[in-house]
Amino acid sequence: MTRVLVVGGGIAGVATAVALKGEVDLVERAPAWRPGGSGLYLPANAVRALHALGVGAEVERRGARITRQRMLDHRGRTLVDVDLEALWGDVGACVAITREDLHEVLRSALPEGVARLGVGVTDVDQDGRVTFDDGSTETYDLVVGADGIDSTVRRIAFPATEPRFLNQVCWRFVLDGEPSQTGWTARLGSGGRTFLAVELGDGRIYCYADTNSATPSAPDGDWRDLFADFADPVPGLLARATDAYFAPLSEIDGSDWARPGLVLIGDAAHACSPSMAQGGAMALEDAVVLAELVREDRVADYTARRAERVRWVLSQNHRRDRARTLPTPLRNLVLKLGGQKLVRANHAPLHAAP
Ligand SMILES: Cc1cc2nc3c(=O)[nH]c(=O)nc-3n(C[C@H](O)[C@H](O)[C@H](O)COP(=O)(O)OP(=O)(O)OC[C@H]3O[C@@H](n4cnc5c(N)ncnc54)[C@H](O)[C@@H]3O)c2cc1C
Repeated sequence: MTRVLVVGGGIAGVATAVALKGEVDLVERAPAWRPGGSGLYLPANAVRALHALGVGAEVERRGARITRQRMLDHRGRTLVDVDLEALWGDVGACVAITREDLHEVLRSALPEGVARLGVGVTDVDQDGRVTFDDGSTETYDLVVGADGIDSTVRRIAFPATEPRFLNQVCWRFVLDGEPSQTGWTARLGSGGRTFLAVELGDGRIYCYADTNSATPSAPDGDWRDLFADFADPVPGLLARATDAYFAPLSEIDGSDWARPGLVLIGDAAHACSPSMAQGGAMALEDAVVLAELVREDRVADYTARRAERVRWVLSQNHRRDRARTLPTPLRNLVLKLGGQKLVRANHAPLHAAP
């Protein structure tokens, strides 16, 4: 039997351990599970992967089904209104859910004793010998680096690959008591500013705001002032946003993901801009595909199996980011005339099974 170590207990790592039916060791550096306090929009290909892991029904039950994706200008005029059921067809439902709920559902499918918390990996050698942060070592047939954008495993195995700052920074928060906010609605301002609100069910909404930035640090002053020209309901939502998470946005563009006995998955391999909300989806698909290849003893095929799809997502993120930073009148025209076609084209190859 292949001895597998999964490094990292985020979406990618826990999903991989679930897909391998718990026949793995999983180590997570943090002393407690802390999936972050915001929300996630899961496009239909992410939800399909969750069904393949056996937890799709519970995710659909806990989250909110999202059937329309609307893009408006910052004054609230509609630019594009996409029917997601028509867009995705048989692939299935799109769902929005809190990160805690998604992580909890994934963890509930993990057999007892698989995950060890408060254990970090500090080194992996060419023979699969892993060093943990308490100085102990253990040898595995396969080490899966699911340790996020600042991956230690990637730094050791592929030191030339570095995250690239995307010249965007963002803030995220969740509010409750907002039953009038439904579906998925992005409001686009000038200079690449976006304010997104996504329904999470039970009157909760997940809000995400981003803007172009020359540096990865938070701008001086109250960030909410950057969105002061946005029409209702944005001012009211921002007034309640006292606890937003700030993050610079970066991506990893490359496909150095595997060497004998070691594979990178999720953000460790290919962190991407949230423009298409495909980061979680790619992580979940990675888990499903990798588990299949481990069972068939074909891990060497992993990069070939995933590279084209992941490359597509990154290129479509770039295309969307370019469209939304056009001068405002041109952007509005492009989205009004071609937005439906753009969104359909962005997602077309993702209909096929991974
Ligand atoms: C602003 C923003 C919004 C997003 N919105 C969406 C969305 O709406 N939908 C969507 O699908 N995706 C979205 N994404 C992407 C998504 O969040 C990520 O793709 C996904 O969470 C990646 O999961 P992961 O498990 O690969 O990495 P992570 O969640 O980063 O998990 C890595 C884990 O590894 C642990 N770790 C790190 N180093 C070590 C070590 N040396 N030893 C042991 N453990 C270690 C960390 O503590 C962490 O728990 C968004 C991303 C951003 C930045």
